[in-house]
Amino acid sequence: MIRYLHSYTLFSLSLLSSLLLFTSVNSQANEACFADIRQQALGAGVSARTVERVMAHAKIEPKIVALDRKQPEFSTTFADYMGKRVNETRIEKGRALRQTHSKLLTELTRKYGVPGHYLLAFWGLETNFGGYMGKKNAPSALATLACDGRRASFFTAELIETMRLVEKYKLDPAKMESSWAGAMGQTQFMPSTFARYAVDGDNDGKVDLWNSTADALASGANYLKALDWQTRRRWGREVLLPAGFEWSVTGRKAPKKTLAQWRALGVRTAAGHKLPDVSDIEASIIAPAGHKGPAFIIYKNFNVIMGWNRSEYYALSVGHLADRIAGAGELRRAPPTDKGLRRVEVKAIQQSLNELGFDAGKPDGIIGSATRRAVRAYQLLNKMIADGYPDEELYRRLKS
Ligand code: CA
Repeated sequence: MIRYLHSYTLFSLSLLSSLLLFTSVNSQANEACFADIRQQALGAGVSARTVERVMAHAKIEPKIVALDRKQPEFSTTFADYMGKRVNETRIEKGRALRQTHSKLLTELTRKYGVPGHYLLAFWGLETNFGGYMGKKNAPSALATLACDGRRASFFTAELIETMRLVEKYKLDPAKMESSWAGAMGQTQFMPSTFARYAVDGDNDGKVDLWNSTADALASGANYLKALDWQTRRRWGREVLLPAGFEWSVTGRKAPKKTLAQWRALGVRTAAGHKLPDVSDIEASIIAPAGHKGPAFIIYKNFNVIMGWNRSEYYALSVGHLADRIAGAGELRRAPPTDKGLRRVEVKAIQQSLNELGFDAGKPDGIIGSATRRAVRAYQLLNKMIADGYPDEELYRRLKS
């Protein structure tokens, strides 16, 4: 018993000391990292006082590193993604806020050319209309990610931008709430976006993306204008494709066609009408859940939305939420709700495609444009429906 206790104590002691060692190695590395950030910030012209004020609030948060590295077991499906973001509660709230802020939204549309229902859709998707802006502290989140090293230069630059914001807008570093990735305020702007595009929407001489809805919405509109928002144009719309449609011409990266060309191929609106016979608007068609799900024709504003967040699911959710707030109904074709592929399955698909000579890029378990292109090429060669959508069937086929 005594012997047992003795070894147990020894074991705990050694565990404790290795933990302490780990912590101290870690904190030494972090101290070196903080010193380097301070140096870079001073070199970039931030005053020593501001550097100290911001860095005094920067704490390394292991939880943020864990969130950043977390890889879900399943890849997200379009139904999942959109279902979580565009739901009846949010649509209703958006419609009510459209009334509440009608004057502001009209002014913003006049000044920046972006209709109110789009501004509401961004606002709704980013923070549930200002309801949830993240509970982290921006200096801490950014310092943690800068020192974690995976994207050190990006997050160091964002942290230095944060210091500039503190200086320029007299912000209190302790009150700069953010997401775990450092996105701030009602529009979840990263510091560099904040620095470039935030404006004073309520003309009180301050720019406050946390507490002023007018500042947040004006800043969103200003950002979209800078991303080249096309006034009086839609983002896109749901379409119906004819039987026997040539799927290989779909995809955001495929050559664009004019509306007249899509019309000639038999593409119709979700309501069943022919597309307008015009040749001055170019568009692509995408099917985010494959040929069994909804198809969308997308215009230039779709890419503008992707300039805000580089995700097709995000852009479709913003577009659809905007439409719903403006009074449109549900999608004509609901996306299939079957579970997504596991990441290991996506990886296996990517590996097989690479081995077969279709370049799916580095097998990472993420369905990106290279994966879709390779899937499409494989489908075409094997006389399958070339929707570029990797599913269970494709997985089984490649496995056998
Ligand atoms: Ca203001």
